[in-house]
Parts: sequence; C-alpha cells; structure tokens
Amino acid sequence: MALERILDFIWPRRCEICGGLSDRPSRHVCAACLMKIPFMPATGCCSVCGLPVEGFDGTFVCEECAKSRKRRFDTAISAARMDGVFRRAVISYKFDGHLWMADDFADWMSAALSARTDPDAIDLVLSIPATLKHRIDRGYDQCAILAKRIASRIDRRFACGIVKRRGDPKRQSLLAGEEREENVKGTFAVARPELVRGRTILLVDDVMTSGATLSECAGELKDAGAWRVFALTLGRAI
Ligand SMILES: [Zn+2]
Ligand SMILES: [Zn+2]
Repeated sequence: MALERILDFIWPRRCEICGGLSDRPSRHVCAACLMKIPFMPATGCCSVCGLPVEGFDGTFVCEECAKSRKRRFDTAISAARMDGVFRRAVISYKFDGHLWMADDFADWMSAALSARTDPDAIDLVLSIPATLKHRIDRGYDQCAILAKRIASRIDRRFACGIVKRRGDPKRQSLLAGEEREENVKGTFAVARPELVRGRTILLVDDVMTSGATLSECAGELKDAGAWRVFALTLGRAI
C-alpha cells in the first residue's frame, strides 16, 4: 500500500472516466466520476436474476424467472448497469486492455456481492473462461483477473481450469434471446468435479445480458455436483 502511494505520487493516476487526476489512492475513477456509475440497487431485485423491479422490496422472484424456471444459477448479482460512462469503461477493459481498471471493478463487484448475499457462504470462486479467440486476439482473460481479485477480497480460493470451454460459440451479442441459449449449449465442461461437489460456487463473468452463458455454465457445475451457484457480473445489460 505504501509503495502504491509512492508510485501514485511519482506517476499520478488518471481517472478512466474524465481523464483528470484520480483523487482516490490506488484507484482509477475519481470521487466525482464515481457518482456517475449506475450501480445496481441493493434491494428491490429479483432473487434469481437480480433485475430490479419497481415497487418491490424484500425477497421476491420476478415474473420472468417464476414463469420460465430455466435459470440454473441460484442468484445473479451485478455491480452496475451497462450504461453511459460505465459501459465505455467496461468495453475498454474487455476489448482494449485497460486492465488497470480491475481493482476498481473488483471493489464494486465485491460490494454488490456483500450487499445481496453472504460471502462467507461461498466455498470456491470460478470464472467463465475467455474464448480461445479472445485470448489469442487480446492475450488476457478479463473474467479470471476479476475473479482472482474478488476471491482475495472475500478470502476464498480462486481456481482456474475447473471450467473449460469445449469450443468457441458465436458471439452472444450477435444473437437474439433463444438463439443465445442454443448457441451456448454444451459449451462448458467441468474438468475437476471432485472440487465442486457439494460446494457453493461463485461464478464470475464480465457482463450479463440474457444470462444464457451463466445459466449454461451453472447447469454444468450443478450436474457435476455443485450445491449452489451464485453468479456475479461486473455489468448488467438491461
Ligand atoms: Zn473522473
Ligand atoms: Zn428474475
């Protein structure tokens, strides 16, 4: 921490949003821009998909989740809505290598996790592995970087290589609702089922849109014996 403060003094950090100097030690979003982040509310969200529903409070399941019962994760939690300055920051992190944002993002995700659930209930932290194409094109796994930081914040183990991809699906953003589910079917395999059996897993992804990818991966973990799967994402497209 002391070293970070010295480095901050020598090379002052810039705010990712406004480009000005960051007034928050070791972080890349200044206090004023932090107010512009569209954080998800801690209450009034569906206990399954995490969508905020106006007029509701406490524990409830939204109409969509009650109707379809298709989601195989137990609960989904996101830090903020994919809007405005936040959306731009997430895209820069995911596609343009702005990896210095990882600590800011992990702070926000950990705060959302603590607000909506009990982190002590989690046994193991996993992440949705990046596609092979993403790793070749960009050279990093954006979700693993976040998952590792979150695991250290909640004092749990992060393990990579437990969830593997069987191949690269088409990009989900190019597809509509039901096509997304079809597209990710059979994408994931659990390489070490003995490590997930009977466990509560925190599954980290960058952005949740339809939830099809997280649901498919959670289903695979449950088929391998996981007891519960909590999904945690940085952004939520609404
Ligand atoms: Zn700023
Ligand atoms: Zn729901």
